[in-house]
Amino acid sequence: MSARLVIMGPQGSGKGTQALRLAERFGVPTISTGDIFRANIKGSTALGLLAQSYTAKGDLVPDSVTNDMVKDRLAQPDAAGGFILDGYPRNAAQVTALDAILADLDTRLDAVAELVADRDELLARLARRAEIEGREDDTELAIARRLDIYDEQTAPLTSAYDARGLLVRVDGTGDIDEVTARLVAALDPVVR
Ligand code: ADP
Repeated sequence: MSARLVIMGPQGSGKGTQALRLAERFGVPTISTGDIFRANIKGSTALGLLAQSYTAKGDLVPDSVTNDMVKDRLAQPDAAGGFILDGYPRNAAQVTALDAILADLDTRLDAVAELVADRDELLARLARRAEIEGREDDTELAIARRLDIYDEQTAPLTSAYDARGLLVRVDGTGDIDEVTARLVAALDPVVR
């Protein structure tokens, strides 16, 4: 089986957790742009230093940087049999870039899963996460900025994917296992 998936959802929707579970289920790697940036920031690489000036404020890292990074990652051998993209694409330009990257690799997406949850639930989960993980960008200001960017730039992408017949919308509320079960039920029929 191969699965080429994008998982989308606002901050706090549980997308990172679910991405890992789907990766295990479908036997493919998770590619999280946020995780790659955080690893580079931790390792003080040139990419990390550049990314940090954006991530700390909740702003997007410039597309030119992010698109090249994803292009390199998707070309790695472990992604040849599929992948779960988490946190990418996040704006219209990244959708176009991803189309080109996948066309170059002679492949395409099987589905785009969107996790849906209302803003009150998201804010409650993010407040808990801020206490537990202490992420630099989980301040009230940076969270608000990321949710605004999600609403303005990322949420509209789901209509574009819906128009292509790729979108699967899943209720992200309830416990983690329940959400995984919903995702698997929705995605099983569409992965090749
Ligand atoms: P969250 O979903 O909580 O915002 P992520 O781990 O997905 O967390 O992203 C953390 C930060 O990394 C973002 O706020 C942004 O600065 C940067 N980032 C992640 N993915 C992208 C992307 N596709 N394009 C630009 N910047 C990104």
